[in-house]
Amino acid sequence: MKLPFIIIVDDDEQVLRAIQRDVRNKYHTEYRISVADSANEALELIKELKLKNETVALFISDQRMPEMEGVTFLEKTKEIFPDAKLVLLTAYSDTDVAIRAINNLKLDYYLMKPWNPPDEKLYPIMDDLLDEWQAQYKPDHEGIRIIDFQWSPKSHRLKEFLSGNLVPYIWMDVENNSEAEKYLLSTNMKFDALPLVVLKDGTWLSDPELPDLAKLIGLQQTASEKMYDVLIIGGGPAGLAASVYGSCEGLKTILIEKSNPGGQASSSARIENYLGFPKGLSGADLTRRAIAQTLRFGTEILTPKTVKNIRLKDGYKITEMTDGSEIHSKAVIIATGVEYTKLEIPGVDKFTGAGVYYGSASVEAHACKNEIVYIVGGGNSACQAAMHICKFAKEVNIVIRRDSITKTAANYLIENISRTPNIKVHTRTEVVSVDGEKVLENITLKDVNTNEEKTVPAKALFIYIGAKPGTSWLNDIVLKDNKGFIITGSELLREKSFNNFWKLERKPLLPETSVPGIFASGDVRSTAMTGISSAVGEGSMAVRFVRKYLQET
Ligand SMILES: Cc1cc2nc3c(=O)[nH]c(=O)nc-3n(C[C@H](O)[C@H](O)[C@H](O)COP(=O)(O)OP(=O)(O)OC[C@H]3O[C@@H](n4cnc5c(N)ncnc54)[C@H](O)[C@@H]3O)c2cc1C
Repeated sequence: MKLPFIIIVDDDEQVLRAIQRDVRNKYHTEYRISVADSANEALELIKELKLKNETVALFISDQRMPEMEGVTFLEKTKEIFPDAKLVLLTAYSDTDVAIRAINNLKLDYYLMKPWNPPDEKLYPIMDDLLDEWQAQYKPDHEGIRIIDFQWSPKSHRLKEFLSGNLVPYIWMDVENNSEAEKYLLSTNMKFDALPLVVLKDGTWLSDPELPDLAKLIGLQQTASEKMYDVLIIGGGPAGLAASVYGSCEGLKTILIEKSNPGGQASSSARIENYLGFPKGLSGADLTRRAIAQTLRFGTEILTPKTVKNIRLKDGYKITEMTDGSEIHSKAVIIATGVEYTKLEIPGVDKFTGAGVYYGSASVEAHACKNEIVYIVGGGNSACQAAMHICKFAKEVNIVIRRDSITKTAANYLIENISRTPNIKVHTRTEVVSVDGEKVLENITLKDVNTNEEKTVPAKALFIYIGAKPGTSWLNDIVLKDNKGFIITGSELLREKSFNNFWKLERKPLLPETSVPGIFASGDVRSTAMTGISSAVGEGSMAVRFVRKYLQET
């Protein structure tokens, strides 16, 4: 495979030589490093690279150059290599320009001169940006291929699973891709056996079950230990944070996830309020970082595995999975978050996965290119989805029952939406039915003031209408509130039955449930502040209390 490029531009010969030396020292085995002493020369070079089908992973440009400012140069590179990471070399006095560029240009980093020592000030930043670029980068000729009809629910399930587990794949529409036909011919596959999945080594599967596919692509399916210190149920931000802290503190930690790690956060196209990421980051990126971090510390992740019950034996917890397997642990953290509320209107079940989606904006956005799309709901997640899909779709319509989105969405989203010409907000409106032949074609809208109905064409309908706790599997093992969220800590003391279920002398620990040694964190916990940062905080904190509990057993 041809190595991707890192391109450095600076008119100051000394600075150019210094940064070239430092970048080359660390990255020359994985990247080709090219330098130019003028922005125009660099632009010529990258046009040539494009023609030769080369790829550029990262541009580094000085801000102050006589013929063109660094931000202008980086802006121009985006027209040719839109996915490359952008770093601006700045002096202290350029900080304002750089911060503006984070917003306007989506600059990835501004690097203050001098960057010595590079081990501290240059390489960690470049490693991070290059890892991020590698994760998004899909070379034309490699990877798993999924071949099917565009709007097939079966392949939607596979795409969602692979992208959620950060496994790169290439999607091939059987109707519009001549290459796809070649794969069908070579496997003798008929249309009704689709989707076809072709792995890197040429192995192929027809309409595979997720656990079978997971096994073949190397995702861990069985626990390696007989007993764990802590077992975490749910791989959203709370569960992932708990797993990082658990393993990092030396606890034998295992994480069970029923679909793919990342939870709700993984369907967020851009998280703008997560500390330390001023330009925001996608849910997929946050998940990728968290998975890498937790695996590095030694957490075992089993996915896809659904927990169906927890039994107690001599103070130990036995977690039962729907596939019949069981795992023993001393403590359990339940971090099963919330599940999307279903939209109960005619036609939705038929077209779920075939034009109607819960979340999934990041997976299906590309398929909405030049199409008319509807989104139900006016909360932050719905608005984030609209901002993401509008980059591809011809028209994005947000449908809400209220008068406006001002009470339900964050200010920055409201402002962004009002500035985006292809997003329309339909207030005092609801979707009453969806229709189509094989895939979604139309939806019917009702004006809630006049009850007037109209049917409009729609290629996709994304539903974001709230959520209920992921505790339906939990039966009565631990105490829940009247909405199904898990009660923990001092809230348990208010329960009339407290003395019946709590037999220890000490009080329940902060995130502890009505069963000693079973903890809950994140959105699933009653009275939790929802959100990614809170979930991460709660997951990390739960581990502290798990340690305390383990010390007393
Ligand atoms: C589209 C979208 C955008 C969002 N954007 C933002 C944002 O920008 N900023 C912000 O602060 N918040 C945002 N949120 C909210 C935020 O994502 C949630 O508050 C956060 O993910 C909660 O984390 P959690 O770990 O508690 O639960 P979840 O993220 O819900 O994760 C729970 C996990 O548990 C798994 N699970 C459930 N039951 C089982 C079982 N029986 N066995 C095994 N696994 C199970 C699920 O599959 C899931 O992966 C967004 C939410 C959505 C939907």
